[in-house]
Amino acid sequence: MAGHIPEETVDEIRKSVDIADVVGEYVKLKRQGRNYFGLCPFHGENTPSFSVSSDKQIFHCFGCGKGGNVYTFLMEIEGYNFLQAVHKTAERTGHSLPEQFNEEPTKQQDPESQSILEAHEWLTKLYNHLLRHSKEGKQALQYLLDRGFTEETIYKHQLGFSPTSQEFVVTFLEKKGFHPQTMVKAGLLNVNNQGEYFDRFRGRIIFPLRNHLGKTVAFAGRSLGEQEPKYLNSPETDLFQKGKLLFNFYLARSAIRKTKTLLLFEGYADVFSAEQAGVENGVATMGTSVSEVQAQLIKRYADQVIICYDGDEAGTNAAVKAAKILKRTGCQTNVARLPEGMDPDDYIKKFGGDRFKKEIIEASDPYTSFIINYLRRNYNLQLEGDRIAYIEKVLQEVAQLDRAIEREHYLNELATNFQISVETLKDEVENLRKRVTSKDGQGTKNNSRQNRSFESHSVHQKLLPAFHNAERKLIAIMLKNQVIADKVQEELGGAFNISEHQVIVTHLYAYYEDGHQPDVSQFVERIEDQSLKNLVIQLTMSPSAEEEITDQELADYIHRIRIESMDRTDIKSLEAEQKRAEQHDDPIKAAEIAMEILRRKKELKNTH
Ligand SMILES: [Zn+2]
Repeated sequence: MAGHIPEETVDEIRKSVDIADVVGEYVKLKRQGRNYFGLCPFHGENTPSFSVSSDKQIFHCFGCGKGGNVYTFLMEIEGYNFLQAVHKTAERTGHSLPEQFNEEPTKQQDPESQSILEAHEWLTKLYNHLLRHSKEGKQALQYLLDRGFTEETIYKHQLGFSPTSQEFVVTFLEKKGFHPQTMVKAGLLNVNNQGEYFDRFRGRIIFPLRNHLGKTVAFAGRSLGEQEPKYLNSPETDLFQKGKLLFNFYLARSAIRKTKTLLLFEGYADVFSAEQAGVENGVATMGTSVSEVQAQLIKRYADQVIICYDGDEAGTNAAVKAAKILKRTGCQTNVARLPEGMDPDDYIKKFGGDRFKKEIIEASDPYTSFIINYLRRNYNLQLEGDRIAYIEKVLQEVAQLDRAIEREHYLNELATNFQISVETLKDEVENLRKRVTSKDGQGTKNNSRQNRSFESHSVHQKLLPAFHNAERKLIAIMLKNQVIADKVQEELGGAFNISEHQVIVTHLYAYYEDGHQPDVSQFVERIEDQSLKNLVIQLTMSPSAEEEITDQELADYIHRIRIESMDRTDIKSLEAEQKRAEQHDDPIKAAEIAMEILRRKKELKNTH
C-alpha cells in the first residue's frame, strides 16, 4: 500500500513529524497527561472524545471510532491518497522523495476511484464543449447568457450541457473504456429495468462540482424545460460527500488566501454573481448547513468568514447555525444582512457589485452584534420580564468574548439602550465569566470527559463474551510486547475466534518476523482495511493496554480462547455430519445431530 516508496522512507518521514503538531493544525488540542484531547473533526460533537497520543503517534476517536497514524489522519481529513499523504508530510519535514515518486499523486488511487475521477474529467470537458459549440447546446447557452452568466464564467467554471439523446454519453464513455456498471455506481449513468444505460443528467445544464483539490467529483444539473426534477445532483459517493465539499473552494482559494477572508453563500448562483461583480472569494455549501469538516477547511485558509445567506427567516436561522459552528473553530465570524426576501444574487443584479461590497459585505455585523440582534426577535421588549430575560441572554454572549474592549463596547451599548448602569452589567458579566472558567479550568471538566469515554468503552467491553474480551486484551498487549506475541504465536497461532482478530494477529506475527519493534503507528500501515485499522487503534488506546499481565493471566486468556475455538470446531464437524446424513436420506439421524448441535450451542452461550 506504500505505492513504490520504500517502507523505510515511509517510516522515516512518519517518524520525523509529531502527529500532535499535524493534527493541531486542524483541531484545537488540549494536553491531558500524556495525551491530547479535542473535538473530533470527523463527526459533530460538543464534548471532546478525540485523542492524540504523542507516545504512540496515533489518533483515536472514542465517539466515531476513527483512528490511525499521521498518514491516516491526512488521508481522512484532506481526502488524500496514501502517496499524497506521504508527500505532504515529506514537504513539512524537508525530506525529498526520489524523483520517480514525484509524479501526479492521484495516479496511485484505487483503480475504481481513479476511473470515476477520469470519467468526471472527460465528461466535464465534453459537456462544456457541447454547451459552447453544439447546435443542441444553443438553447442552454442562451439561457445562461440571458441569466447574466458571462462567457468567461462559463469557461472558468466549465459549465456544460448534456444532450437529450439516450445513448450519446453512454457511447462516449464506452469508447473511452469506462465500464457502464462503474459509471452507474459513480452516479453518471442510470440503468433501467431492461438493462439499458442512459445519461443521468441528459437534457440539463451542468455545473461541475470540484473538490478542494480541483477534481470534478460530481455534477449538479438544472433542467431547461419541463423536465422534473428541476435540480438534480450526483448521488453521494466515496468521492463526493455534500458535507465535506464547498462549491468553488478550489477556484476561490487564491483570493481567500490573499484577503484572508471567505464569503459563505447558500447557493451557486450567489457565487457566480459575486464573482462577476469582482468578489472572488465566495464559496457555497451544497444545500446543507456547514459541517465541522467544512468549518475546519475554511479555518485553514481564512482568518475571517462572512456569512451571506438569504434575507428571510430560513436564511437567518441557517446563518445563526453556521455562525456558531464557525465561531467555535476560532474564525472571526461576521454575518451580512440582506434586505428581507432578497438573496445575494438578487441584490447584485438589482444594485450592482459596488453596492454589494459596500453595503452588504463591508457593513456585515460581527458575530456578537448579529446574535444580540437575532435574540431580540424572541422577546417583547415592552414587557419588563422579557426585557430582563433578553438582557441576561445578551450578557451570556458578551461574557464569552475574550477581549475586554469588546465586552465594554457591547455593555455600553446595552447600558444606553436599557438605561442600566454599566457597572452593574460589568459585575454580572464578570460573575458569568468566573463561573465559566471555574467549570472549565484545572482540567477537571476534561478529565471527567476523558473518563466518561473510557467508561463507555469498558461498559461496551463488559457486554462482550469472555473469550472475545480475552482476545481483545491479548492483542492489546501483543501490540506493545513482542515477547508475549511470540508466546501467543507458539501456543495459539492464528486460532483466534473473531475473524477480525485473526487478520490482525496474522499481520502482527509477520510484522515482528520482519524484525520490527513494537510500534503501533508503524504497524497500522500494514493493514489496508480502515475498520480493522480503527480496531487496532481502539485496542491500543484502551486502558487495559496499559496494564501489566501476569503469566497466570496470560495462560487464562489463551485457555479461554482455545476452549471456545475447540467448541466451535466440534459444532462445525457436527454440522458437516448432519449435512451428510441429510444427503444420505437419513432424516432421523440428521434430526438427532441437529438436537446435539442446539444443545452444545446453548452450552457455549451459558459459559460466557
Ligand atoms: Zn469522531
